[in-house]
Amino acid sequence: MASSSGQSGRAFSSFGELDCYRPEPNSRRCQFFRPDGACERVGEFMCWKWLAVTQGYRPEDKTGRGKETKMEASKTGKGQQSDSAAYKNEYISYSRIDQYKKCPKAFEYSYVQGKRGDGTDATRFGSACHAALEDYFNAHSEEGGAVNADELCGLFQKHWGDECLTDQALFDEGLAIMRRFAVAHPALEPMQVRGCEIPFDLPLGRFRVKGFIDRVDDLGNGTLEIIDYKTNKQPYSDEELESSMQLGLYEWVCRQLFPWAKRFVLSYWMLRMGYKQTTSRTPEQLDNQIRYFEAMAESTERPEYPARLNALCGWCDHREYCEAFQNACKADGTIDLNSQSGIEALVARREALAGVLNGAKNSKDAIDARIKAVLDEHGDFTAGGKAFRYITKTSYSYDLAKTLDLVSRYTGHSRDEVMREICSVDSTPLKKVVSAYGKSAGSLKAIELQAELEGAAKSRTTKVLFSSNAKE
Ligand code: SF4
Repeated sequence: MASSSGQSGRAFSSFGELDCYRPEPNSRRCQFFRPDGACERVGEFMCWKWLAVTQGYRPEDKTGRGKETKMEASKTGKGQQSDSAAYKNEYISYSRIDQYKKCPKAFEYSYVQGKRGDGTDATRFGSACHAALEDYFNAHSEEGGAVNADELCGLFQKHWGDECLTDQALFDEGLAIMRRFAVAHPALEPMQVRGCEIPFDLPLGRFRVKGFIDRVDDLGNGTLEIIDYKTNKQPYSDEELESSMQLGLYEWVCRQLFPWAKRFVLSYWMLRMGYKQTTSRTPEQLDNQIRYFEAMAESTERPEYPARLNALCGWCDHREYCEAFQNACKADGTIDLNSQSGIEALVARREALAGVLNGAKNSKDAIDARIKAVLDEHGDFTAGGKAFRYITKTSYSYDLAKTLDLVSRYTGHSRDEVMREICSVDSTPLKKVVSAYGKSAGSLKAIELQAELEGAAKSRTTKVLFSSNAKE
């Protein structure tokens, strides 16, 4: 099937050869790297990662999407220095506008001043998952069928290494995500996946909008499903889904890339949860979202970029030098819970504290990793009045039958009584068993088993405080 751009389904990933996702060019991880920055796979083309490291191009944008960061910064004539008044977007993207919306100061650091972050484990983990899925569908979208879990896991493992990630628990979670994803895709139609990482570059008013769409599926009868993969730990609320500017923007894009399509389904594929959250837009909603997006783009060129402390500050690339965050980290005495300024002020303070807490945890984890590296290399050491060494902690995993026998014999209670008292099922291995069963018996049987297990389980509900972004 030909697309509106005259490309076949797989040809959408036309950047595949250029886009190696190497996180650390000039390292032994990239076998194609040459000292002059050219990639041996693509001849004279420069590796964009190499450009990112050596010349300040932003790694968030593939295939040179971030080149304008440097160009914009140089327009000010001050290199990495801010000249907010002179700032003009060379192009806009969803991620840029989203960052501005969350915190204008973070936008200023990233795009006006051109300061680059190295990314967090969470963003690299997301990249590894995205890249594995993209590789898989680039190789298999034509034939369709069931998604092969082992192949997907192999691809994830490859990209995990490329992203230089090391956390074992996160790695296991990634494999579980890939397996869950395979179970949820038992029978794709040939060519159902029309494209992955579909690039776009379209005019919107005086701006150009650039970006990539994770995946577009052809559901038949003129219906396209636009899919964005998410590694969020929480699902979106109905309100968030309805107001998602990203999904609205992507429909606006696909209406131009695929003018033959009559209907659009908009989905977030929640990789950690293994299900999709789906929504749609009326023409009026779509129009409003695009107008809003354009208005936000205009705002990004205003000369003021106020800091907006929020729960994500802990993961912000700029937190080390962000004055607002650093000030918030300082102890600031008591909080007046009955303040005259009311709940609004308390909510704002709570967001700031959440950001500080997250930031403090991330920083402590990073310091702990460094201390462990020193211990590994030099053994026990003393610093800052503290002595550091490894201690051995032992944990036990008890054999069920032997434990029941022993406790029953010593206490005089029956095995059934002891079992009721001390046994419960660990949900993580249980999920693995259900998932493995799904591979052999089919996903419908696995869903049936899961439903029966949940019916037989004792459930307990607790109220948990949860906040999400209010509708615009
Ligand atoms: S640390 Fe928080 S307030 Fe500072 S730039 Fe980042 S997101 Fe904004």
